[in-house]
Amino acid sequence: MSLDTLDHAVLLSIVLALITYVSKGKLWGVTSAPATSTGSRDIAEVLSASGKRCIVFHGSQTGTAEDYASKFAKELQSRFGIPSMTADLEKYDFDSLPALENKLVFFFMATYGEGEPTDNAIEFMEWLNSADDLAAVKFGVFGLGNSTYEFYNAIGRKVQAKIAELNGQFLGPYGEGDDGRGTMDEDFLSWKDAMFASLKDQLDVEEHAMQYQPALEVVELDAADPSTVFLGEPSRKYLDPSQDLSLGPFNHSHPYLAPIASTYELFSLASRSCIHAEFDLSDSNLRYSTGDHLAIWPSNSDAHVSKFLAIFGWEDKRNQVIDIRLLDQTASVPFPTPTTYETVVRHYLGITGPLSRQSLSAIAAFAPTDASKLLAMALGGNKDAFKEKIHDRYMDIADALAYISGGATWEVPFSFVIETTHSLQPRYYSISSSSLSEKRSIHVTAVVEADTPAGSDHLVTGVTTNLLRHIQLTQNQSSQDPHQRYNLSGPRGKLARFKLPVHVRRSTFKLPTNPASPVIMIGPGSGVAPFRGFVRDKVHRKTQNPNEKQGKIMLFYGCRSAEEDFLYKEEWPQYASKLGESFEMITAFSRETTRKVYVQHRIMERAEEIADLLGKGAFIYVCGDASRMARDVHDALAEVLVASKKMTREMAVDMLRNFKIQNRYQEDIW
Ligand code: FAD
Repeated sequence: MSLDTLDHAVLLSIVLALITYVSKGKLWGVTSAPATSTGSRDIAEVLSASGKRCIVFHGSQTGTAEDYASKFAKELQSRFGIPSMTADLEKYDFDSLPALENKLVFFFMATYGEGEPTDNAIEFMEWLNSADDLAAVKFGVFGLGNSTYEFYNAIGRKVQAKIAELNGQFLGPYGEGDDGRGTMDEDFLSWKDAMFASLKDQLDVEEHAMQYQPALEVVELDAADPSTVFLGEPSRKYLDPSQDLSLGPFNHSHPYLAPIASTYELFSLASRSCIHAEFDLSDSNLRYSTGDHLAIWPSNSDAHVSKFLAIFGWEDKRNQVIDIRLLDQTASVPFPTPTTYETVVRHYLGITGPLSRQSLSAIAAFAPTDASKLLAMALGGNKDAFKEKIHDRYMDIADALAYISGGATWEVPFSFVIETTHSLQPRYYSISSSSLSEKRSIHVTAVVEADTPAGSDHLVTGVTTNLLRHIQLTQNQSSQDPHQRYNLSGPRGKLARFKLPVHVRRSTFKLPTNPASPVIMIGPGSGVAPFRGFVRDKVHRKTQNPNEKQGKIMLFYGCRSAEEDFLYKEEWPQYASKLGESFEMITAFSRETTRKVYVQHRIMERAEEIADLLGKGAFIYVCGDASRMARDVHDALAEVLVASKKMTREMAVDMLRNFKIQNRYQEDIW
């Protein structure tokens, strides 16, 4: 029996697949890149082995500090020829730091919560507090914070002060970026310019034009065993059939693929949306306690993925399998490989959100025409023009590049995009269920971000909340269109039947241990989420132990109107009937009266009672909007103390600060 051409082709492809499988791709000279490169935790050793002169550490929670650290290191290397690397604080020991005489050490330090270090900076802060002397080392510090929080940039300032106390040398001024005023980008650029000017004075360095020096190489594979190719799985574990994915610990590198048992719409408005979603934990050992946060791992929408691939001319290569080779051993690949172009864009990179001026300047070199290059450079170099043409028009990177080139594709190396785009980050949600009454289920309450703001000619959407909305509409077989569509079945169908990767982040936002302590909860809008959990906790305890002494519970809630966006409107009377007189909900509907009424006005109306409860040891909880509400509520509480306790405003503010230190005034704000 002779084989025809088709048979030969089939046989050849089987043999090729087998070879690929057996060799795991090594025949093509490609191996999967390790997640981190050198393996050593000793800073001096890593710097010496890699030939680097500068190390830029980041204490980062959501990836912003890491992103700025990376941009800074790249520019130092490219403009001044100073071999530089970035480093996650968590991955190093610091014993050799005081001896880094001829090196440059930078810290990009985010402040988290109530003036705390980020998770990856905790050990470093402990080390710094007990360090002896840093006189031999040259430092630079940039803090990232939010001025709407009381302990603004506490960690950046602490690091700067501690280095000064330990006689460290400074390469330039201390810098601070403020997310609260929305000026992080411009703050960074001003600090960077001042730091570079100082470096030019202090060090013998020559300045060059910025030039991209790749740290990674993208290799397109001709053949790869499909079972080894990552299609959006969060990490290597998810492609290993021997791993039990229902077992924790679940954290920022290992999420649980949680089934969403049910979802429903909480608003009765056509124009706005808030999703209630219930994640089922019964098949896993994932646990939480009331007041914790749920991290939801999103993917990008179909439209955003297509727009991004199109502007770079990668649409035809969507499914091309790629691997990444490290050209610089101190770099790392931020996702598992081998993978595909589309997977990287859909699952691993943060491709939406405002474009930064620095990023535009960096990508200008790849503009398709001289005219578009000039325009990109002009916008990147001019704060006001950039604000008017790009920022105030809510453009993401694909929008901005299309606007600048008139739609012509940009030929940018994929490695550049990987190196300069931050990773797609999980978003956090205050859990709105009670771990006492919902032991095997986590509820979240998410306001969907979708708006056409003044200045924009398109609907501006948030990644995760629109994914939740797409799930809600599909799960409930709604005829309504989602604002964005997603690949709901996920890689290899792993998210089919409504699953999402999640993990729990422990929080200190907790009810007092003594149930007789009075509590004052203030949570307008989705800020009511954790208080639904708190109240359900109270109801559970009351049902289990009816004679337990229960302190007064005041819940201040605000929204636009009782008919449109009153969250869990039907539930509160049920809780009130179970808890009796101890529970009181005080509402403020801002659009129902001629004068807008907010929670802070209601607080003032109840000043005497609040002051009385504070005298009896009440705990205050505030949740929701960090930009204005938290400050307005703080000011109202200070007024309450001034009016009822006959103290000066200074004394009242001091008293509230002491409450915070004693954990009697807790905030969960964003
Ligand atoms: P993202 O994609 O992160 O976008 C953020 C914003 O940027 C959106 O408004 C989006 O429309 C806008 N945007 C998108 N593109 C552009 C552009 N090109 N230019 C300018 N703007 C753009 N939220 C809740 O609803 N409920 C909660 O219980 C809750 N709890 C939280 C608890 C904590 C501890 C924290 C930190 C946050 C909490 N949040 C909560 C907020 C939540 O984490 C998300 O930030 C929010 O849901 C938006 O996520 P997203 O992915 O939909 O939007």
